[in-house]
Amino acid sequence: MKEIKNDGFIKSRIKEAASILRRGGLVAFPTETVYGLGARVSNRSAVRRIFEVKGRPHDNPLIVHIASSDQLSSLVSAIPPVAKRLIALFWPGPLTLVFKRREEVSSLVSAGLDTIAIRSPDHPIAQALLGELNEAIAAPSANRSGRPSPTSCQHVARELGKTVDFILDGGPCRVGLESTVLDLTKNPPCLLRPGAITAERLRSVIGDLGTIGSEPARSPGMRHRHYAPDFKVILVPPRDLQTAMGQLLNPKKRLGVLCRHKGPKPAGLAYYRQFEGSAALYARNLFSSFYEAEAAKVEVLLVEDVKRQGFGAAIMDRLERAAGREMYITTLCEDQ
Ligand code: AMP
Ligand code: MG
Repeated sequence: MKEIKNDGFIKSRIKEAASILRRGGLVAFPTETVYGLGARVSNRSAVRRIFEVKGRPHDNPLIVHIASSDQLSSLVSAIPPVAKRLIALFWPGPLTLVFKRREEVSSLVSAGLDTIAIRSPDHPIAQALLGELNEAIAAPSANRSGRPSPTSCQHVARELGKTVDFILDGGPCRVGLESTVLDLTKNPPCLLRPGAITAERLRSVIGDLGTIGSEPARSPGMRHRHYAPDFKVILVPPRDLQTAMGQLLNPKKRLGVLCRHKGPKPAGLAYYRQFEGSAALYARNLFSSFYEAEAAKVEVLLVEDVKRQGFGAAIMDRLERAAGREMYITTLCEDQ
């Protein structure tokens, strides 16, 4: 994790943000995954306001952010040995762990469940804010419910406007997708949401891993519509990209393209972004490309899909949710 250099301005912003949180306000802040919309865990009315501001369904619990595992015992009733191994390897970092909740902790953050999701973010500003406040912060992504997660402070401002009391600017997020969520109250632990800490890496540490498919009711958030921009998303395999662009290009519909592989770019596209290289680079730019495509008034965004392995599983999870039911054009390229 990078240090905050001797930057007096950002340090004074962090102090101001902490004092707003102490007074019961809502602060949006950067993490390495996406921007969070934070409230003090102990302030019930501030936590309630997170749900209102986001329009978040009341059955969708929040992730609690802590500076380090030292704060865990005040929030959870038991820390299983497997948690200690995972924490030693992956915290601070993009891994959220679900524990049994201590009864004293407000059930509001957990949407009434007897469990609680916790992570320690690997971002110097998030860490400095948690240190300054000296208390846990409940923080879902700082977007309106169902929308793509914000990966810059400009996205937060566009999503939440004046409904958030303060925004800390930390520049673009390094990971760009939300944290991996792993439920440790199940045996074997159950992967509730794929993320940058991949299923493969988790298996190499803990062995057997349950998946959401085998436990549909466990992650309330996964039931709801997610990551939906205001245009239609159509997924396309790399080999079909050129054909799909040709077929969908139409003067009456503003077509955008988000892809990984280089190729001829047809004239007449309303938006085009290409990120050759690692899945991590594609992930980092996924939601920011959605926001850019919205600004370009795109009506249909053709998005190149990725292999569902490693970090690709998290990318495909977000893309499929963004696309909704009709993910692929089935009539396309049938003969190939
Ligand atoms: P967000 O912070 O908006 O990225 O969403 C948090 C995710 O963590 C959602 O998918 C929630 O359903 C999930 N989550 C939070 N708390 C719990 C919990 N106690 N048990 C299971 N999933 C949880
Ligand atoms: Mg979210």
